[in-house]
Amino acid sequence: MSSNQLYQYSILSALMRRLATQETGISIGDLLAHGDHGLGTVTGLNGEVIVLEGEMFHYPVSGDAPRRLTDNDDDDDDDDDDDDDDVTGETLPFAMVTFFHPSMTKHLSSLSMSTLATSLAPLLPDRQNSFLAVKATAWFKYVTVRSTPAQSYPHEHLSVLAQRQTRHTAEYISGTLFGFWSPAYSMGMSLRGFHMHFIAADRHAGGHVVDFETETKDNKNVTLEVAVMDEYTVRVPSTAEFHREIISSGNATDMMAAEGGAE
Ligand SMILES: [Zn+2]
Repeated sequence: MSSNQLYQYSILSALMRRLATQETGISIGDLLAHGDHGLGTVTGLNGEVIVLEGEMFHYPVSGDAPRRLTDNDDDDDDDDDDDDDDVTGETLPFAMVTFFHPSMTKHLSSLSMSTLATSLAPLLPDRQNSFLAVKATAWFKYVTVRSTPAQSYPHEHLSVLAQRQTRHTAEYISGTLFGFWSPAYSMGMSLRGFHMHFIAADRHAGGHVVDFETETKDNKNVTLEVAVMDEYTVRVPSTAEFHREIISSGNATDMMAAEGGAE
C-alpha cells in the first residue's frame, strides 16, 4: 500500500448518543482486516482498546487485567498454549485503525502532552487539515489515563458517564502511545486534535491518555513516528438501532469533556 489510509467504524457523535451495544459493533476480525494500529472502545463503553502491531488489547474500566481480543476465525492454527485470557466474539461500537507506515520518524530527548503538537513539526501545521497517525515509544515519567465508568444500562449517555470519570497515573513505565490527530472540521465524526491511547511494554497497563511526560534519560529516549493519511473511510453501521434517531454532529463541548483529547 503506497499511502496511509484511515478506516473508522461508526462515528463519535453516535457514541455520544449511547450507541454502544454488541449488536451495532464491528467484529475484531473485520477491524483487523483494515488496520494493524488503532484505538477504540467495546460494548457498553467498558474501557479502552488499543491495536498495536496487529494485536488488540482491551483495558476494562474496572482496572482488571487487560484482555487480548482475537479473531475467533483465526483459531485454526491452535496455538492455545498461553492464550487462556484471549477473548473472542467481542465487537467494537467505535474504532479507528490504519496500516501504519510512518512518513516521518524523529528521535527526541523528551516529549509531553503539551509538546506533542510542536514535536510533529513540520507536519503540524503543514498538514493540519489531514488526519495523522502518531506513535511514540519511550520510557515515561508518568502516563495519566482516564477511565469512564461502563454504562450501567444499555443506553446511558456518554456525557453522563463522563461526569463519573476517574484518572489513574502510572509512573516510570516503558510503553507506547498510539493515536490520531483529527482535523478541526472532523469534530463529531472524530475527536478534533489528539486522541491517544497507551499500552505498557509489558501490556499490563493501558488506556485513554489525558496527560503524559517522558523521562529525559538520554537524547534518544523517544521514538516518534507519524503518518499522514490522505484517505479517510468511515463505515456507517447498518443496524436498525443506529438508524432509529437522527444523529447530528453533536455538542463539541460534551465530546471534549467525554473523550478528553488535547488540541
Ligand atoms: Zn479513547
